[in-house]
Amino acid sequence: MGTSSRSRMIATLAAVSLVAACSEGGEAGGGGGYPDRNITIVVPFSAGGPTDTVTRMIAEPMAKALGGKIVVKNVEGAGGTVGAGEVAQDKPDGYTVLMHHIGMSTAPALYKNLGYQPLEDFATVGLVTEVPMTVVARKDFPPATLTDLTAYVKANPAKVTLANAGIGAASHLCGLLFQSATGVKLQEVPYQGTGPALTDLVGGQVDFMCDQTTNTSGQISAGKVKAYAVTTPERVKSLPDVPTTTEAGLPQLQVSVWHGLYVPAGTPPDVVGKLSTALQTALADQAVIDQMAKLGTAPVAAADATPDAHRAHLEEQLTAWAKVIADAGVQAS
Ligand code: ASP
Repeated sequence: MGTSSRSRMIATLAAVSLVAACSEGGEAGGGGGYPDRNITIVVPFSAGGPTDTVTRMIAEPMAKALGGKIVVKNVEGAGGTVGAGEVAQDKPDGYTVLMHHIGMSTAPALYKNLGYQPLEDFATVGLVTEVPMTVVARKDFPPATLTDLTAYVKANPAKVTLANAGIGAASHLCGLLFQSATGVKLQEVPYQGTGPALTDLVGGQVDFMCDQTTNTSGQISAGKVKAYAVTTPERVKSLPDVPTTTEAGLPQLQVSVWHGLYVPAGTPPDVVGKLSTALQTALADQAVIDQMAKLGTAPVAAADATPDAHRAHLEEQLTAWAKVIADAGVQAS
């Protein structure tokens, strides 16, 4: 698709920040010499969005556990595939790490010329969290409930705009499920991440979208956006008044956004092991647990923050999404 090709070309570094510094005299600790310089975690979406938020939550406790420094770098574009492609090409030395989400498992079915293969070009470090999505609209969008929204889009298909973070992003998948459940094709507006998409939703420039609770919780609680439903079987504790899609009459709309850390394939196993152990330490940190709970999510169990559990999940998700996407007949460039 033209838009995603353009996104690829204009992918920019939105933000680079140093999130932790805990070594003395510039030298970092850590057995076997790793890490002895800054580790970069690449986020393939905009700063301030949900993937970025989760990354920044765990970066500091991970850095502390590793006895080193972690820099978070946003490399946006094409539904997360630009940033992932950059990390796939990087040196397998443990100094470049990718935080990605469900998009790692959907991109191969969506992009003809992806340029990387999830199972061949990356080593998995561990799962991080699985985040519910919400269906949210600008405050003054007429439909009051999810049932009203369904009727409204059927009556006004050419008028309604649906924001997402590019082909293969979680918001795009959720929007696809919505369109296939309602049988309506809507005008999609792609962003480099749902951080800026949510800003435009609050500003009234787009009508509605799906996004993780890690991004929408604050705006829902503050009444800045209208929340129709959460896309999980159970309600989300921090948003007790928001019904599930099943309660709201659209049970087909189920998606939650799992996140995981990756390094380029060929990274030494002991380095992957150190990163995985540091991830487990970060996920057990009470401040991280509390921050996540406030935003409607929770860390995965320690057993899932491991390379093997993460790889098994990725394999299962690649198969599942390949079928959904083939059935939907969607393709990017
Ligand atoms: N929530 C976004 C998505 O739709 C990604 C992001 O900005 O974190 O995949």
